[in-house]
Amino acid sequence: MNLNHMNLNYMNQKFVTLNDGNKMPQLGLGVWQATNKETEHAVTTALEAGYRSIDTATVYENEQGVGKALIDSNIKREELFITTKLWNPDQNNVRDALCKSLEHLQLDYVDSYLIHWPCPAKKLYLKAWEALIQAQQDGLIKSIGVSNFLPEHIEHLIKETGVKPVLNQIELHPLFNQAEMKVWCKQNNIYVQAWSPLAQGGKGVFDHPDVVNLANKYNKTAAQIIIRWHLQENTIVIPKSITPSRIRENFTVFDFELTKNELKAINAINKNERLGPHPIEFQ
Ligand code: NAD
Repeated sequence: MNLNHMNLNYMNQKFVTLNDGNKMPQLGLGVWQATNKETEHAVTTALEAGYRSIDTATVYENEQGVGKALIDSNIKREELFITTKLWNPDQNNVRDALCKSLEHLQLDYVDSYLIHWPCPAKKLYLKAWEALIQAQQDGLIKSIGVSNFLPEHIEHLIKETGVKPVLNQIELHPLFNQAEMKVWCKQNNIYVQAWSPLAQGGKGVFDHPDVVNLANKYNKTAAQIIIRWHLQENTIVIPKSITPSRIRENFTVFDFELTKNELKAINAINKNERLGPHPIEFQ
């Protein structure tokens, strides 16, 4: 890849500083439900468009596709921010699972490693967290975090280990805006990262009249309006697409700004409607 033509979006993209001091791009690419081949192409397109953060997981079975695209890109390792996640049955087997992911990704370390779900009934997430702390100390992970955790689970980790996750990756989109969790995470200096940030492709969001009006006003698409809302809400966001034009579209969001009232209007779309499972129930 020719980095001499690094595009404007790459230059203008925003970074956040996590509570461990590491910096992370605020906008990345998600690759759930993509095959290895689709993932390889999507990540290549994304890197060319200026993305540097990629979100995969062991259970997506496409870490190899991510790894292949990273190798072929020739982008400097320190410019990339790669996230993968510990799958639920591996909570008792963190080191092996992490090493397998690193092998698939062809990396010596990941930038962030997340416990994918708390699975509280199994009572293993604290043990898993201790193993993440150890792997971070051993240089295999830069930043450690969680996904789908409720405040009570995070409080338990902090009480027992004194180590805070850098972020909590949770379902968050206009139909399920997680207002309370956002306040709690902010108070605790933990970033919120939104999964299914586009409500998995619309479902009453893309055609909501307020979103359509804003898209017309700014000459942007509904997806771009929603991504911009996440960014201005200080959320880390990882929209998924394997379609090259959409991958580029979703990254062309650094050249306009929504007003406070417009952010409020998008927040008012909330229906407290989850698309995915409840964190307490999912095993
Ligand atoms: P998403 O909200 O990002 O929606 C993706 C879908 O939206 C695409 O498949 C496509 O149909 C549509 N889309 C994307 N860009 C578009 C555009 N510009 N115009 C029109 N339609 C568009 O959904 P997601 O994939 O569920 O979530 C994003 C990422 O979050 C995942 O890929 C994954 O990395 C992560 N995730 C994590 C968890 C978790 O438990 N931690 C769960 C689900 C997803």
